[in-house]
Amino acid sequence: MVEKIANGGGLQGNAANLGRQGNAVFNAMQPLETGNLIARSKKILGSIDFEMLSREGLVRGRDYRLLCSRPTQAETGGEPNTMQEASIGPKSPTIADIAQSAKDGYNGVLYVHIPFCETICTFCPYDAISKGDEHNYSKNNSGESIRRQYLKALGKELGMWKSAYGSLNIRQLYIGGGTPSSLGADEIRRLFGMLRAHCEFEEGAEITFEISPASLRKGMDEKLAALKECGVNRISMGVQSFDKGVLKAIARSNSGEELARSVFGALRGFGFDNINIDLIYGLPGQTLEIFESDLKKVAGLGPESITTYHLRIEEDTEFMELYKRQPELFPQSNPTMLTMKIMATEYLAELGYSQSPTDWFYKGLGKHVAQHEKWQNGSELLGIGVSAYSTMEKSGWYFGNIGSIKDRAGSMREYITRVNEGRDAIGQGRLLAKEEQMESYARRAIKTGICRQFFRERYGKDVLDAFPQIAHLEELGIVEVDGESVRLTYVGNLVAEEAAAKL
Ligand code: SF4
Repeated sequence: MVEKIANGGGLQGNAANLGRQGNAVFNAMQPLETGNLIARSKKILGSIDFEMLSREGLVRGRDYRLLCSRPTQAETGGEPNTMQEASIGPKSPTIADIAQSAKDGYNGVLYVHIPFCETICTFCPYDAISKGDEHNYSKNNSGESIRRQYLKALGKELGMWKSAYGSLNIRQLYIGGGTPSSLGADEIRRLFGMLRAHCEFEEGAEITFEISPASLRKGMDEKLAALKECGVNRISMGVQSFDKGVLKAIARSNSGEELARSVFGALRGFGFDNINIDLIYGLPGQTLEIFESDLKKVAGLGPESITTYHLRIEEDTEFMELYKRQPELFPQSNPTMLTMKIMATEYLAELGYSQSPTDWFYKGLGKHVAQHEKWQNGSELLGIGVSAYSTMEKSGWYFGNIGSIKDRAGSMREYITRVNEGRDAIGQGRLLAKEEQMESYARRAIKTGICRQFFRERYGKDVLDAFPQIAHLEELGIVEVDGESVRLTYVGNLVAEEAAAKL
């Protein structure tokens, strides 16, 4: 009999060695064979006290609006959506409000939002403009296209931040979207020229650029050469799925396996040696078999990291409407979604990927130190662009720009108008109270493990005193606590978003 994993006294893992813990479960049951990944994952799920998780509010329904993290971007390279965590109020701060507390200029991460995409995915919760829609945006008096106007506006917005801070020292740059690779080679060069004119980049700074295979159908070599020339050293490629039916359902049927393989090969040919690939699970029509096939194909390419996102069905998206009309099109049950998560955890661990935070799998720490630091220690994150968001953990400012998917065209026009008039583009934000700052930090850091000493130094109290609910999560087997850290267990990792929301 396999012991109940989530009964508090059962098998527990943590974010740093989940793979080994998972394999320990397998080893107790049967030898590792990749051929029966689905059966093995179901067996692990069967050993989890699912009723307890439901009772404790640790599994979510499908029609949820999630609190904790958003897909890529930034995914960010997986940027945390601390704006939502922080329940931002209606009053907008100004750039001067935010910058006045910084004595030595800005030091941190810069996120740049490029809102142009080939087509709009049906699940898209971001501010994005499809290629086919660009001509609906008027040219300005100088006859400049919406792209050109937007790239110039980015430079003006960044210039305002530089004036307020005095200097912008960048440790990590993330160009996300949208689909940054929908920019042409010349536009990429112009963008980086503007960024380098305003910012000082630390030596060895990680510079990530998001790409989608479909946007590289034309001009791939020129674009990749431009990225290399501009100093990009990390690529994040959105694949989502290789299955034709699934891609059609999310309006990405112009992508697919063959194209992704050819783009991946070209990236290697240009010398990119730090590539992340994004997959999504929970898409319409995506069965366990399809997800297994996606996982194996992506891993077969040998990227340095793989991010697997749980599909979020968000308000005001096409998917939310579809889900309301035809919920049967989506992988229905929580058990199915959790099985997919276990499949990713187990399979990628077998291949030598480490897992931390919860949805991110990476090989070797060397190339991923910057990503880890950001998750564990927190970081200043300044976002520019129509719907970028920012978190200043040192001062406690959390804010976002004006973008809204309810009115993508309107917010784009407003963004350009405002920055051209020398006004900032902040749409919402506020200074968080100390307690809220702790919450926001803990909700993100729990996904990689909260260092108790770091927490004490930053917030002046022990994390266990700040969050007495951790004791209950420990009893349930969701976290494990020792003198050094608070970390998610194997089961805690499966319900990481829900566990984080308890803090
Ligand atoms: S690529 Fe991303 S930003 Fe663009 S439409 Fe799809 S989900 Fe939205």
